[in-house]
Amino acid sequence: MTRVLVVEDDPLLGDAVQAGLRQRGYDADWVKDGVAAEAALRTTDFAAVVLDLGLPRLDGLELLRRERAKGSPIPVLVLTARDAIEDRIKGFDTGADDYVIKPVDLDELAARLRAIVRRSRGEPAPVLEVAGLRLDPAARTVAYRGQPVELKAKEFNLLQEFMLNVDRVLSRTQIEERLYAWGSEVESNAVEVHIHHLRRKLAPELIRTVRGVGYVLPRNPAGGDD
Ligand code: CA
Repeated sequence: MTRVLVVEDDPLLGDAVQAGLRQRGYDADWVKDGVAAEAALRTTDFAAVVLDLGLPRLDGLELLRRERAKGSPIPVLVLTARDAIEDRIKGFDTGADDYVIKPVDLDELAARLRAIVRRSRGEPAPVLEVAGLRLDPAARTVAYRGQPVELKAKEFNLLQEFMLNVDRVLSRTQIEERLYAWGSEVESNAVEVHIHHLRRKLAPELIRTVRGVGYVLPRNPAGGDD
């Protein structure tokens, strides 16, 4: 079983994350401050860390900085608040592998954890197949109904987000955060432009607009429930 360390001082969130990961097949240890986390990492071989940043005794960024300074390659998934873009940038700069925004969606957390563990083991990301689309993250190729489709880098990343979140409505803000996780500038209409291009290159009905909420890739685009 994959053993992971959860570092979270909020008792409700820590408990929920530990229980959620156990339900999803992980062996999850949970500690509530940075010093306890550092001790656990010294004595136990974990496959990954789920790391809150605001922690008592030793904050998450400092813990991460120390681990990377020691040369530890352990994959780290950071938990951050929705509005804490600065924290996410600092997290990436310090050596975090990915992040999840609070309130935490446990399925998303488990999926992102799986991805960073797989990457750390040198295993390629699995090919995604949804709604006639086939996306190969390792080869960065896309086909729709068997026909190869040329996408620009951001269009590819956007389509991958939709395929990883099939049937789940993504708000424009969520999409922007995923597309621009590394802190580059977001043009005000960038998301609409990328979605327009995806619809034109693939099929108009694949990505639906949910008025006032966001966009969704339905598993069955021809489901007729519009
Ligand atoms: Ca905290």
